[in-house]
Amino acid sequence: MPRALVTGGAGFLGSHMCDRLLAEGYEVVVFDNLLTGSADNLSHLANEPRFSWENTDVSNGLSFPGEVDVIYHMASPASPVDFATKAVEILRVNGVGTYNALELAKAKGARFLITSTSEVYGDPLVHPQTEDYWGNVNPIGTRGCYDEAKRYGEAMTIAYRRYHGVDAKIVRIFNTYGERMRLSDGRVVPNFVGQALRGDPITVYGTGQQTRSFCYVSDLLEGIFRLATSEHAGPMNCGNPTERTMLEFAQEIKRLTGSASEIVYEPLPTADDPKQRRPDITRMKEWVNWEPVVSLEEGLTRTIAYFKGKIDAGAK
Ligand code: UDP
Repeated sequence: MPRALVTGGAGFLGSHMCDRLLAEGYEVVVFDNLLTGSADNLSHLANEPRFSWENTDVSNGLSFPGEVDVIYHMASPASPVDFATKAVEILRVNGVGTYNALELAKAKGARFLITSTSEVYGDPLVHPQTEDYWGNVNPIGTRGCYDEAKRYGEAMTIAYRRYHGVDAKIVRIFNTYGERMRLSDGRVVPNFVGQALRGDPITVYGTGQQTRSFCYVSDLLEGIFRLATSEHAGPMNCGNPTERTMLEFAQEIKRLTGSASEIVYEPLPTADDPKQRRPDITRMKEWVNWEPVVSLEEGLTRTIAYFKGKIDAGAK
C-alpha cells in the first residue's frame, strides 16, 4: 500500500487531499499544528484504519518512522487576514517547514509536492497569468510574508530537485472555495456567503472592480493529484479561469442565497490587493489532461449549503 504524508492535512485543502488519497488506496499520515486547521475536518476519518494524524509543527523538525512514498507539503495559513497576525509562522512553515519536508523526502526517496500559490505573481502585470511570468511582488508589503514565503518555498523545492535529485513538484493554487473553509476565515467566499445568509451587509472592498477566478475544491484536488502522479515537475497553475469582479461576485452570491442583504463598500484592507487574477491553464490541460468541470453556480450552491449548516449549528 503506498504511504503518503500530508502536512497541513487538517486544513481546508489538506483534509480534502486526505480523502482523495484514501480513495486512491493510500495509507495517509497527517502532520498539523492546528494553527488554522481544525480536527473537525478529519473527524469523519476517526475509524479509518489507513489514516492517522499527529498534532505537530513541521517548522520545528520532522521525524517520520518507516517508509513514505509521497509528501504533500500543504501546511500554511493562506487567508490575507492571517498575514497580519501570523506572518512569522507563514514565513517559517514555507521556509524551514519546506526545508524539513524536503530533507525527509530526500532521506526516504519520496516524491514531494508543494502547494504554492497564485500570490507568487503578486499584483500581476501579465493577464492571465502564465507560469513563466515572474510576478510583481512587494517583499515588504502586507502580503509579502505570504508571497515571498511561497516564492522561497518554490526556490527551495527546485534546489532539492536540481541538486539532490528529489522528485519534487510545484503546483500554484488560484482562489479555491468549498466545504471545510472556515466561516471566520476572512476570505471573500466565507465572508460574502456568511453575510448573505445572516442578512448582514455584504462588504465589497475598494471599488469592487478587482477580479478573481474561483475554483471548486474537487476540481483543484483532481488537478493536484494528477500533477503529483505525472512525470511533470511544474510549476503548474491549478485553478478555474472563470473570472469575476468582486462586485459581480457579491451579486451572484446574493442571488444564489436569495438574500436581501445590501451590498456596501469598505476600504481595501491593503494597498497590495491584486487588481486582477486569472490562471492560464494551458499547462494543466496539456500536462495532466485536466480542466475544471464544476460550474461556479454548482460549486457555490454546495458551499452555501455547507455554510448554512454551520451557521444553523451556531458557528460564528
Ligand atoms: N474581498 C472583499 N470583501 C471581503 C473579503 C475580500 O471585497 O469581505 C476582496 C479582496 O479585497 C480581494 C478579493 O475579495 O480583492 C479576494 O480576497 P480573498 O481574501 O478571498 O483572497 P485573495 O485573492 O485576495 O488572496
